Amino acid sequence: MLPPSAHPPSRPKTLAEAKDHIASIHQRVTSVETLPLQACSGRCLTQDVVASIDIPPYDVAAMDGYAVRSADLDAEGRADLRVIGEIAAGHPSYREIGTGEAAHIYTGAVIPPGVDRIIPQEHCVRRSTHVAVSARVGGKPHIRLSGEDIVSGQTVLKAGTKLGPGQISLLTALRFEDVIVQRRLRVALLSVGDELAETSSSVKHGGIVDSNRPMLRGWLEQLGCEVVDLGIISDASGLLLQALVDAAATSDLIITSGGASVGPADYLARLIVTRGFLEFWKLNMRPGKPVGFGDIDDCPILALPGNPFAAAAAFTILGRFLISRLAGGTETPSLTLPLARAVSKEGSHLQVLAGKLATADAGMTTVEPLKQQGSASMLAIGSADGLILFPEHQRQFEIGEPVEFVAL
Ligand code: AMP
Ligand code: MG
Repeated sequence: MLPPSAHPPSRPKTLAEAKDHIASIHQRVTSVETLPLQACSGRCLTQDVVASIDIPPYDVAAMDGYAVRSADLDAEGRADLRVIGEIAAGHPSYREIGTGEAAHIYTGAVIPPGVDRIIPQEHCVRRSTHVAVSARVGGKPHIRLSGEDIVSGQTVLKAGTKLGPGQISLLTALRFEDVIVQRRLRVALLSVGDELAETSSSVKHGGIVDSNRPMLRGWLEQLGCEVVDLGIISDASGLLLQALVDAAATSDLIITSGGASVGPADYLARLIVTRGFLEFWKLNMRPGKPVGFGDIDDCPILALPGNPFAAAAAFTILGRFLISRLAGGTETPSLTLPLARAVSKEGSHLQVLAGKLATADAGMTTVEPLKQQGSASMLAIGSADGLILFPEHQRQFEIGEPVEFVAL
């Protein structure tokens, strides 16, 4: 019953080896596409973006006040000027402001010819057709010069940047309408198990609701993937094989949970061996040990454990890396944080614990393992801020010792 005798001779056994192995055989598979800017949230740029206009595009008033010529001010910065009109934002005036003249101007309005200074409203006293202005000698001109933020020709965003609201705002201001971005990685997602039900109303006696798929779907969507949700497949090798073959034909990656262990009803590893290649199966980590990786019809497949916390751990520390590799982005970096309490572990495996961020006395952020742990713990998944990784070859970890923390 036990799968793979077909492992490559030096198949990876640790998380680090698994990542190196993935990096050595997989690279970006996604091509590029051009999308309207409004549809680009969460997408990654495939090339640097160069500004083709200045920001601001014109010299504009930085304050509400009066637009004046500095040459009209006396040694104390005062003048009594004739007001020739108003200039509001979006309504530029092309009439030159002459000697002894001023215009009432509002923030964002284009500076008219002749003007080199705005005197803020609060330093001006208006008397019908005239205004008495009083500038602070040596004070700012309160004009935002064209190109003072961004000059045309400047590289504003680098290839690989993920577009969030800030970047989309910047590109909008620069008047981009279409952007060239990476196509989303298409990930087929399925759960394997006779006991699994789609909803609470369809759970049979002895069954449970499939809670892995909503979790994995959510994380995949957060990572910018296009998820092809294939639902639940029962523990039947024929059905499972058909689902995998169909998924392989239309996807960039298949992610499964469940059915990848060593039980007689766990068909995944055996199916991968018969239809493709099993690169590795079982890593020296807990939870998350029964994780398999290979391909079916040349489509990479990541077989996660069924146990929910184990699936969460294997996805977070291995799946995210694989996706960044295939989609061409960078993996979210982990943090190094001091431990809030001592931890001892048995055995020389990578131990993954659910952790919560805490604040120590000096205001420093620390990370504390939750009381509830274990590969099947739903509470750990629901309450953790992230995962704490305790490396293979160390058994005792002291309070305050720096550890690796990966946010969930
Ligand atoms: P397996 O990996 O199929 O041996 O499953 C290990 C454990 O995880 C079993 O207790 C399963 O019932 C549970 N499990 C498997 N798949 C899921 C899922 N999608 N949602 C919640 N629990 C699951
Ligand atoms: Mg099962």
